[in-house]
Amino acid sequence: MRKYNTIFLDRDGTLNPDPGYISSLDQFEFYDFTIPALQRLAHSGNRFCIVTNQSGVSRSLIDQDDLNKIHDYIKNEFFKYSIPLLDIYICTDHPENASNRRKPGSGMFLEAANDHSINLSESLMIGDSVHDIKSGNNLNMDTVLVLSGRGKDTIKDSPDVEPTVAVNDLQGAADWILE
Ligand SMILES: [Mg+2]
Repeated sequence: MRKYNTIFLDRDGTLNPDPGYISSLDQFEFYDFTIPALQRLAHSGNRFCIVTNQSGVSRSLIDQDDLNKIHDYIKNEFFKYSIPLLDIYICTDHPENASNRRKPGSGMFLEAANDHSINLSESLMIGDSVHDIKSGNNLNMDTVLVLSGRGKDTIKDSPDVEPTVAVNDLQGAADWILE
């Protein structure tokens, strides 16, 4: 079994299907396997932090209040199922005018490390995009590429991406961590 200080999770395509720019709570749903996989990991003593790029806000496609409602829902679900969630970090920057907070930048991870005394080099990043894997690799974290969401395109379009491991989805990630 692998033990991590904190497991960082991408949101869209990792925890939930990603139709693109989810702008209201009724468009958001976890994959069927998400809560069970996180519960298995939680039972083994893991804690989580969500880091999500949401450029739809700066593109005026997503209203900040609606984004807050989605994230309140996620926090409530994690609490309901006893899945420890430290926080949700959001970067709303437009890619053409992005700060270091936007993945693959390190900003959100460094904020989380500071807020919650996280040892990043003993942590794991799970996500479906090349940005997720690069951000984790840049910080010396282990990285899991999930082939849900955009994951299959990530492998096709970015053959140079080097996750620690690639698995089908979050369920596969849990299997790999707990094996
Ligand atoms: Mg994603």
